[in-house]
Amino acid sequence: MAWRCSGGTNEELIRNMASKGLIKNDDVKEAFIKVDRAHYAPNFAYEDSPQTIGYGATISAPHMHASALEYLLPFIKPSTTHPGRPRRILDVGSGSGYLCHVMAELAGDDSKVVGIEHIQGLVDLGRDNMARSPAGRSLLDSERVRFVLGDGRKGWKEPTSAEGGAEWDAERDGWDAIHVGAASKGWHQELLDQLRRPGRMFIPVEDPRGGWQDIWVVDKDEEGGIEKRKLFGVRYVPLTDAEEQLKR
Ligand code: SAH
Repeated sequence: MAWRCSGGTNEELIRNMASKGLIKNDDVKEAFIKVDRAHYAPNFAYEDSPQTIGYGATISAPHMHASALEYLLPFIKPSTTHPGRPRRILDVGSGSGYLCHVMAELAGDDSKVVGIEHIQGLVDLGRDNMARSPAGRSLLDSERVRFVLGDGRKGWKEPTSAEGGAEWDAERDGWDAIHVGAASKGWHQELLDQLRRPGRMFIPVEDPRGGWQDIWVVDKDEEGGIEKRKLFGVRYVPLTDAEEQLKR
């Protein structure tokens, strides 16, 4: 069982997870080893379990982060088909900031990771947690990772990098990978629109009949075609309004 996995150190936790098959990919394993979960999880950092982080939010269990990373990996690792094009990754509901750090480790030097939160305290928490390590501080200083405030259901449009203030463009300014860390009530068109071609989104979605959620992987192909695949049942915090969440 996933929750039985633990370790005395970060590296021990990750190696135990790998030996139990909860982390399958070596790049993912190495990236996890580089990021000390104790900087992001307030308690029991080296246990494979979710932990509350305040504001009605949780840091997900490491095996859920591993699964998300392994599904998104072809869109996080430096691209082989577009070698000159640095990765752009959006983490909706970045919470503790942990996954942003691991994704930045995987994505390589020129990549950009944006974590979006709808509660200022969680924007600050992600940034403060990341600042606890020299590697994290360097990601923040170089702006390879940024934490921003906004409603993640609408995605995030960075101010355009183009000269002369050109319009936002999905191919240049959109995302190779979108990770959604909270359960959505439906498909948010703006998130799909902001995926690059090709691009992939990993998203927990509430079943319309209520009562449960499933992880879906949504692929956008080179022509802009969308394909959705349902993977497995999960239990996430809802993707909602800030006021609703703070009532929890
Ligand atoms: N992935 C993070 C947090 C998971 S908890 C981690 O593992 O640390 C889900 C997060 O989604 C919470 O932090 C919550 O504040 C955020 N969230 C919920 N609805 C949101 C919305 N509409 N926009 C942005 N973030 C949202």
